[in-house]
Amino acid sequence: MSENQTDQRKMCELHAAGLMEEVDQRCTNPEFVCGKCRRKANRAEYLHNPLPLKKSTGDNFWG
Ligand SMILES: [Zn+2]
Repeated sequence: MSENQTDQRKMCELHAAGLMEEVDQRCTNPEFVCGKCRRKANRAEYLHNPLPLKKSTGDNFWG
């Protein structure tokens, strides 16, 4: 249990495990959103079902 294996976990698992620091580190500049749990992440590999977040210069969330 001494190994830090969080790199292999998805955002939702990190969140479920209460590893908020890990979650925060992976969504500092999110470009993807999980289609299952709606979490955001910097990289697609952090998500179960990654969908590209639409880059927006404004507040038009629904793009
Ligand atoms: Zn997910």
